[in-house]
Amino acid sequence: MSLRIVVCVKYVPDATGDRKFADDLTVDRDDVDGLLSELDEYAVEQALQIAEEADDAEVTVLTVGPEDAKDALRKALSMGADKAVHVEDDDLHGSDVMATSLVLAKAIEKTGYDVVIAGMASTDGTMGVLPAILAERLGVPQVTLLSEVKIEDGKVTGRRDGDTASEQLEASLPAVVSVTDQSGEARYPSFKGIMAAKKKPVESLELDDLDIDADEVGLEGSWTKVDSAAERPARTAGTIVKDEGEGGKQLAEFLASQKFI
Ligand SMILES: Cc1cc2nc3c(=O)[nH]c(=O)nc-3n(C[C@H](O)[C@H](O)[C@H](O)COP(=O)(O)OP(=O)(O)OC[C@H]3O[C@@H](n4cnc5c(N)ncnc54)[C@H](O)[C@@H]3O)c2cc1C
Repeated sequence: MSLRIVVCVKYVPDATGDRKFADDLTVDRDDVDGLLSELDEYAVEQALQIAEEADDAEVTVLTVGPEDAKDALRKALSMGADKAVHVEDDDLHGSDVMATSLVLAKAIEKTGYDVVIAGMASTDGTMGVLPAILAERLGVPQVTLLSEVKIEDGKVTGRRDGDTASEQLEASLPAVVSVTDQSGEARYPSFKGIMAAKKKPVESLELDDLDIDADEVGLEGSWTKVDSAAERPARTAGTIVKDEGEGGKQLAEFLASQKFI
């Protein structure tokens, strides 16, 4: 039977652009360009490599996000994924990680899977917790933050590199995996891949299709709430320390005053 790989990919605001909060204190995603979270390209790459090794495998890329999130799916399809699932619904607006993970879990169950692969963190939220919450929701093992991953004989094995040691991890399938930016360079989409992606299927799902009530997601269904937000103050001119014999001392005093030392 075909190995079913689902890759979670997030469409994120371009970090090089100005980002603002909307009136309801959610991130304003309408007025900024977005793209496939760079760290999720590593997840797509590992999924493609696993699929290439397997006799028979299918890679589905999945996103929860607004209309424009299709761009992230297209990029993953042009890298080589087989099909895509896009969960889009106005009621998702303001969903935090708990609500987002609920939607992803239901969509993954509906799609069918043997392994779910996620990135180590998104480049906007950067919480790095979604894969663990997802595994809990799906009731399957989690093997997270892998720099090397292999799937063989119904098991996922991999290496997690820490500051002082590397761990070798193993879990039986189905499982949730997350991979780091050390797992291997992500491929660039080829021209052929970009053309082929235009014809690959993209399934659109709404909350109703996943049996999720509107009050389980969105601002109302979220477990976290932003109470206030303020714009970062404009940069001020830096402090220049002139060394006239006392430079080192002045530098140390400055760092201490800023609580750096
Ligand atoms: C349109 C939109 C509006 C949102 N509004 C809010 C809001 O108002 N308040 C709020 O707290 N959160 C909001 N979120 C949710 C938030 O942006 C994250 O998706 C979620 O909280 C996960 O946190 P993270 O990005 O830190 O994920 P991490 O835990 O850092 O992500 C790890 C991995 O999980 C996967 N992943 C994460 N998010 C998604 C996704 N959406 N689709 C597919 N895979 C994913 C990726 O593989 C990623 O590499 C919104 C999301 C979207 C798309």
